[in-house]
Amino acid sequence: EKQPRKKQFAVIGLGRFGGSVCKELHAQGHEVLAIDIDEDKVREYAEFSTHAVSIDTTDEKALKNAGIRNFDHVVVAIGDHIQASILTTLSLKELGIEKVWVKAQNTYHQKVLDKLEADLVVHPEYDMGKRIAHKMTSDKVIDF
Ligand code: ATP
Repeated sequence: EKQPRKKQFAVIGLGRFGGSVCKELHAQGHEVLAIDIDEDKVREYAEFSTHAVSIDTTDEKALKNAGIRNFDHVVVAIGDHIQASILTTLSLKELGIEKVWVKAQNTYHQKVLDKLEADLVVHPEYDMGKRIAHKMTSDKVIDF
């Protein structure tokens, strides 16, 4: 029997959001590559990932050398550094990554990410606010 190939995940940016995504994937037993420009972050996430590397993901060469093309699903969680987030997303799309999910910092950022054809743009505070409002006005308890 041919086993389906295991999905390869990568998380770029290990702040609160990216770090949480990375830890959860790892806890679920998935393979996850953790990436951050900050070496301290990379050291911190060594135990919460399959592999952790320190690179500047705006450098397309560095991305390629990290083997990013072998990954099916990459999450970009560089929130504060909008320029770096945009450049990273552009490179990932150009390298042909199947699914690129990106955290947006604000609606301008979101607009650009949509234009770059990011496969999913998440805006955690906004998305969670909406969910909470729905939960407040719903009798049924929904999962959030
Ligand atoms: P939160 O912590 O709430 O998720 P955030 O998304 O703004 O907020 P930051 O704390 O800014 O997250 O974390 C983003 C991470 O991205 C940082 O750890 C930072 O070192 C990393 N980062 C920033 N620029 C680059 C880059 N060019 N390449 C790789 N990682 C980067």
